[in-house]
Amino acid sequence: MAATEVLDPYEIAKGLVKDAVENLGLDDSVYELLKNPQKFVEVSIPVEMDDGSVQSFIGYRSFHNNALGPTKGGIRFHPDVTPEEVKALSVWMTIKSSLLGLPYGGGKGGVLCNPADLSPRELEALSRGYIRAMAPHMGPYKDVPAPDVNTNPQVMAWMFDEYSSIVGENTFGLLTGKPLILGGSKGRVEATGRGTVVTIKQAANHLDMNLAETTTVVQGFGNVGSVAARLMHDAGSKVIAVMEVDGGVYNPEGLDIPKMLEYKVEHGSVAGYPDGEPISNDELLTLECDILIPAALENQITSRNAHDIKAKIVAEAANGPTTPEADRIMTERGILVIPDILANAGGVTVSYFEWVQNLYGYYWTEEEVNSKLEQMMRQAFDWVYNMHTERGMKMRDVAYMVAISRLAEAMKVRGWLPAQRSTYRRS
Ligand code: NAD
Repeated sequence: MAATEVLDPYEIAKGLVKDAVENLGLDDSVYELLKNPQKFVEVSIPVEMDDGSVQSFIGYRSFHNNALGPTKGGIRFHPDVTPEEVKALSVWMTIKSSLLGLPYGGGKGGVLCNPADLSPRELEALSRGYIRAMAPHMGPYKDVPAPDVNTNPQVMAWMFDEYSSIVGENTFGLLTGKPLILGGSKGRVEATGRGTVVTIKQAANHLDMNLAETTTVVQGFGNVGSVAARLMHDAGSKVIAVMEVDGGVYNPEGLDIPKMLEYKVEHGSVAGYPDGEPISNDELLTLECDILIPAALENQITSRNAHDIKAKIVAEAANGPTTPEADRIMTERGILVIPDILANAGGVTVSYFEWVQNLYGYYWTEEEVNSKLEQMMRQAFDWVYNMHTERGMKMRDVAYMVAISRLAEAMKVRGWLPAQRSTYRRS
């Protein structure tokens, strides 16, 4: 790894925003408004454990920017959550929502915990405690959370129930990613992985690649990675390796992904799946393949391994899996990197559909959801891809520029930028 390589996700996020502001020739004040979250809240969540003791967990929520609408973003439960990570993820939500043209700003939450160590009752108490502590800052028109790593529709259901009992009414629009029975949207669970695969199909079309002749490697087999793996498998690509936190599996003849999904339900992980060889994370990322889908955590592709990545397309289903230095190296080597803010935007897009359905109280069919999602993802991909080829810039740089010009316009007309304020005073 290069000695100076930046690995702090918040520094990376701010650097990307700064570059885009400069590339667009915008005033420094745009960066000043975007470099810090508008609000950052830290809470302590006491939970009575099953053994009768009380344990205090730390929870964060970063409300990065609400120029375009209520802040929107998932809640992560993980032992490595840090304020910097939560802030970075909230910046990326602001940029992603703006890129897709959604009426949302960006937010993100995190709780320092290891859900694997918690009983279902403790997990419920923690989920309810988090939302109780954050309730004054949240609401359908203020801040709208969703699932992220280690949180799921059940966690959203507990949070929805807790908030609804605090405010005294069923508030379906409070958060998205809920179970269907509680106002969830059809297609939401699959939306992020499905959106990733839409962008891969668009990329393959532009690069004249036939997906049925490709091989795919997926890091992470959770909500996002398992859906992406299954949809790539359905599209005829040979998925040759998948990985989870406790182990990975490689089979050069192709893995039977539907069988692996059943195996995971039974065993809790793909590690140990018999029809393949075990593989390490480092080996998996540098396997000979056409498409690599990092769908786990940040900083997986760095200057340490970017020279050895063999894929032709890297589709960032995870947030922040690639450092800027690694992005530069892979781009120079002719690899097409579909940046996270585009490749995983299917999740927030269907979250938006869920919120719209909740506010209307009228629900769509799965076909309607999927076809609207595919249309929006294809359009966003083509827009970014065409600008990338016309201007000879990285997909990521173009995507940030599109997103930030929209945000800057909103902040300007709201009167947040100095030129706008002085115009107002003069008139
Ligand atoms: P998840 O908890 O369902 O799955 C995470 C997966 O990553 C698991 O398979 C886990 O075993 C694996 N993993 C964790 N640490 C790993 C490691 N060190 N090495 C290899 N594998 C590891 O989470 P998810 O919702 O699928 O989220 C995955 C990524 O996608 C995250 O970066 C998240 O921010 C991003 N994302 C999620 C959504 C969503 O809708 N869930 C939307 C946009 C982006």
